[in-house]
Amino acid sequence: RTFKKEFCCPECFKEFKRLSPNKFSFNSPDGACSECKGFGNILFPDLDLIVPDKRKSIKDGCLSIFQRPSLSYEKRKFIDFCSTSGIDINVPYKKLPENKISLILNGDLKYKGLKGLFKRLEAKAYKMHIRVLLSKFRSPFECKNCEGSRLNTLASKVRFGDKTIKELSSFCISDLLKFLSNIKIKKRDLEIIDEPIKQSISRLNYLVEVGLEYLTLARLTRTLSGGEAQRVNLAQQLGSRLTDTLYVLDEPSIGLHPRDIERLFKTIQDLRDLDNTIIVIEHDLDIIAKSDWIIELGPKSGENGGQLIYCGATKNLKKNINSITSKYLTGDLNIHVPQKRRSSSQKLKIQGASKHNLQKVTFEILLNCITYITGVSGSGKSTLIKDCLYGNAIREFGQSYENPGNISSISGLENLNEIIMITQEPIGTSSRSNPASYMKIYDEIRMIMSKSPDAKKLNLRPGDFSFNTDGGRCDECKGVGKKRIEMQFLSDLEVDCDSCNGKKFKDNVLGIKYKEKNIDNILNLTIAEAKRFFENNKKIIDRLDILISVGLGYLRLGQSSSTLSGGESQRIKMAKCLLAKNSSGVLYILDEPSIGLHVDDLRNLLNTFELIMERKNSIIIIEHNIELIKTADYIIDMGPGGGKNGGRILATGTPEEIKKSKSSIIGNYLNL
Ligand SMILES: [Zn+2]
Ligand SMILES: [Zn+2]
Ligand SMILES: [Zn+2]
Repeated sequence: RTFKKEFCCPECFKEFKRLSPNKFSFNSPDGACSECKGFGNILFPDLDLIVPDKRKSIKDGCLSIFQRPSLSYEKRKFIDFCSTSGIDINVPYKKLPENKISLILNGDLKYKGLKGLFKRLEAKAYKMHIRVLLSKFRSPFECKNCEGSRLNTLASKVRFGDKTIKELSSFCISDLLKFLSNIKIKKRDLEIIDEPIKQSISRLNYLVEVGLEYLTLARLTRTLSGGEAQRVNLAQQLGSRLTDTLYVLDEPSIGLHPRDIERLFKTIQDLRDLDNTIIVIEHDLDIIAKSDWIIELGPKSGENGGQLIYCGATKNLKKNINSITSKYLTGDLNIHVPQKRRSSSQKLKIQGASKHNLQKVTFEILLNCITYITGVSGSGKSTLIKDCLYGNAIREFGQSYENPGNISSISGLENLNEIIMITQEPIGTSSRSNPASYMKIYDEIRMIMSKSPDAKKLNLRPGDFSFNTDGGRCDECKGVGKKRIEMQFLSDLEVDCDSCNGKKFKDNVLGIKYKEKNIDNILNLTIAEAKRFFENNKKIIDRLDILISVGLGYLRLGQSSSTLSGGESQRIKMAKCLLAKNSSGVLYILDEPSIGLHVDDLRNLLNTFELIMERKNSIIIIEHNIELIKTADYIIDMGPGGGKNGGRILATGTPEEIKKSKSSIIGNYLNL
């Protein structure tokens, strides 16, 4: 009889090392899949990126990678290959038969196709420009070795119950909880595994409490929304059972359905009852009403804010006559339910939308109306509107979109001139962008400054009043006004530039004045002040008026885009859309525009929507905020749950119809 020191198979004697926890972690070199190094996917040439416009033929350059002059030799080789293997270079790419496309990608015995080209390029990836080139045309595809589990082959063969670790990670939190609670374990094993199971169950329960039961364990943290990530942290804190700790939460209600806000607040109370202190920055009236103590700042935003309005027990807030929050809490002020809902016979219709948890969903959007998409987190709202509707629609308009959802048809696009998604990303491309430059007010101001007699004497041109180009701007800080000092071991420090004292321009430029103000003074005006200052300049006033109408009169003309909140950036973008001359027939898509807005600011937002609607446009809004939803013309309510429990349309119709509908969830929260 043979004895072995290591574990081995009793039949074929294949040996393997004793399994350690590391073997089950893709973050450890011991556990990671050897092919993909634990990433779960491998970069391959992606035809959707290589062929952005499938209406073009090969001859017209549909394979954009061959447009590179450095690849002209490769291009000739490829064209030769096409002629010898019968690939027609004159027909549009999308008309090429499947087997020819496979030839383009995989090649034959002699020429290895695009995959061969990429192999040759990858061998030269030590060169920077080749790496940049590759990154433009490759996408991650699931690793075949580990099937995306990111783990080594041995670990993926171990089973707990009858499940592998990959299967367990693909469970959503509520299913895993069920699995662990019901698992049958032999008494001998129970001693080993009892505590880990208890710990896992308790942690999973915290994640359920904060409303994340639909997430799978394998979900990457970077794909979580801001609100989801914050709630994962909250669950972790609950699990740690710390006491005497001060927690600061910034708008934890973001992205939460009214149903989940109740649960979230219970979690916050549990944290408090463990002898902790919690500070919540919040706009949601339900959460505010349940607090113990309130600090209200105001009375308005920006310049007109910054004062302490109230600091005291929540129950005494209503005695304070200056508090706007109090007026909304008591219902003295509220957002009105519109008298009439818009309706329309023009529709955008999508059939058979599928991606993630959506399975062949068919739906209609009313054009020239405001449609709200509602539903709990993870119910598929964004997938439906962004990936299925927007992604496919802008492809029809000839723009690119990565990985749109599958649809069987889309109709009604002929009624639209354009589709625009208005995100909360910062405006402009650099930190020098500001409201004035983004709205093209700055161009006018530079013109005015350069026309003054003093400027002419010094031969200054409009460009000298710009901080985007060399000339008039401070050479030290390149017109930023600040300098970054690297602090070893500490985070970088920003200080005013010592050459221009933060004024961004050279002295001769700062000496030029218009109505007694120099360029720095002017950029420091608020939008409302600028309206008085430029009283006779219609071009500037028109633009300022639009900014004021969307409630941004308090911003400074030259305020750096990096200091604007997501909501402010979003409203500047809407203002710019309103500026365009041909701004009708546009479908706007907004994702949670209420984020960061006080109820009082919601009125500005609704006012902006009205301005957009006056010009015969359509708006789709993904939203949780019940105050906004009640103003909808049409609602699409999704659910019922998140993840695989969602992905269905529960009810559609006007708010009144939704409230009556038995299958709708949001209907229960509508106060009409
Ligand atoms: Zn064996
Ligand atoms: Zn792998
Ligand atoms: Zn400077």
